[in-house]
Amino acid sequence: CGIVGVLGHHEAAPILVEALKRLEYRGYDSAGIATVDAGRLDRRRAVGKLVNLSDHLVHDPLSGKSGIGHTRWATHGAPSVTNAHPHRAGRVAVVHNGIIENFRELRAQLAEAGVSFSTQTDTETVALLCESFLNDGMAPVDAVFATLERLKGAYALAFLFEGQDDLIVAARKGSPLAIGHGEGEMYIGSDAIALAPLTDRITYLEEGDRAIVTRAGAEIRDEQGNPVTRETRRIRIDS
Ligand code: GLU
Repeated sequence: CGIVGVLGHHEAAPILVEALKRLEYRGYDSAGIATVDAGRLDRRRAVGKLVNLSDHLVHDPLSGKSGIGHTRWATHGAPSVTNAHPHRAGRVAVVHNGIIENFRELRAQLAEAGVSFSTQTDTETVALLCESFLNDGMAPVDAVFATLERLKGAYALAFLFEGQDDLIVAARKGSPLAIGHGEGEMYIGSDAIALAPLTDRITYLEEGDRAIVTRAGAEIRDEQGNPVTRETRRIRIDS
C-alpha cells in the first residue's frame, strides 16, 4: 500500500501512476488517483493491478497538474472500486494508509448528524468528517486539522480539495510519509523510492507531523500545531 502526491507543472495522472508503480513492492489490491484541474476535483479508481487503472485512464482520462494517488491494502471493506481510495465527500478527496480505530464511533456521530455513507471503509469517515468541517465554514487546512483531532489509530493521510489547485495537506502518525522538493514542484510519497525519478531532496515527516504543501514549499507543524523544521536530505536511490 502507498501514497503519492504531486503539485507540478505537467499532467499529474501519468506521474502519479508511475510513482505508485514504484510502491508496488508493498503489495495492494486496488488503486486510484484524484486530480484538481482549474478547481475541479475528480478521481479514477480500479481494482487489481495498476495496469487496470492505467487502462481506465486511457478510456476516461483525468486532467490536472495537482493530484494524489493511492494503492490500497484493504483492512475495512472488501477490495472493490467503491471502497478504493481516493475517498470523496463533497469538496474533499482523501487517501489513507493505516487504520482509523475509532471509525465506528465517528460513523455513528456522523450518521446522527444525517450524513450517509457509500463505502464500508474506515477512510470514508475521514473524508466525511473533513467535509462536515468545511460545511461549518472552515478553511481547508483548518478542516483537516480539526479532522485529525478526532482520529485515533495509525495513518498516513493526504487531502486534496475542490477549488484548490495549489494545496495538498498531509499528515503522518504510525505510517511513514515523505515530502519531495522539486523545482517549483512539490511531491509527497510513502517513501523516497516512490519519488526517486522526480527528486532526491526529501523531508521525512515525524510522528504526528502535518504538512501544508504548495508549489512554493511545505510548511510543517507538529501534533500540537506548532511550526517545526525538519531536515531536508539528499536521498539517492538507483532506479
Ligand atoms: N484502512 C484503509 C482501507 O481499508 C486503508 C488501507 C491501506 O492502508 O491501504 O481502506
